[in-house]
Amino acid sequence: MSEQDDPAFKLDEVTEEHRAQASPQNTEKMWKYARKFAEKSGTYLHPHEEITEFLVIGLAKHMDDLGRPLCPCNFYEDKAAEAKKSTWICACEEMQKYKYCHCLLFVDKEGFPITEYLPEDHEGREIYGVVKDPFPDKGRALGRLEEKQGRKIDKSGHA
Ligand code: SF4
Repeated sequence: MSEQDDPAFKLDEVTEEHRAQASPQNTEKMWKYARKFAEKSGTYLHPHEEITEFLVIGLAKHMDDLGRPLCPCNFYEDKAAEAKKSTWICACEEMQKYKYCHCLLFVDKEGFPITEYLPEDHEGREIYGVVKDPFPDKGRALGRLEEKQGRKIDKSGHA
């Protein structure tokens, strides 16, 4: 049984206090971005809307504080320094290469992150096993470019 099917599994509700952590403008902007990127990348937003909303608030707060949508699910020693790099700006390098979102913002229809393109020793494989891509013809722009050029490339375009 997945945790979502478990009757004892209960998510925290999103409260007005949570929503007040980010500006309405950036929250709206991040909702639009999340919906659009899910469509473009061939993924779904999580079936539990509370999960998506928490993540959208996290991204919007980073937009307010840092001016960029830094991934809300990592710990950063120095957020401002991290925001200057592109690795963890949403959609992050892992998403662009492997279509893998460890935050569970962009997932398959059941709410699992896509893991089929991850290196076998990646922790996402260990946690979730192989989760197939529901739309293999979409997303992974950077991964496809690497395959085409036969070399590793990071999100800023450097080899
Ligand atoms: S893991 Fe990547 S794609 Fe998912 S929310 Fe974080 S930055 Fe965005």
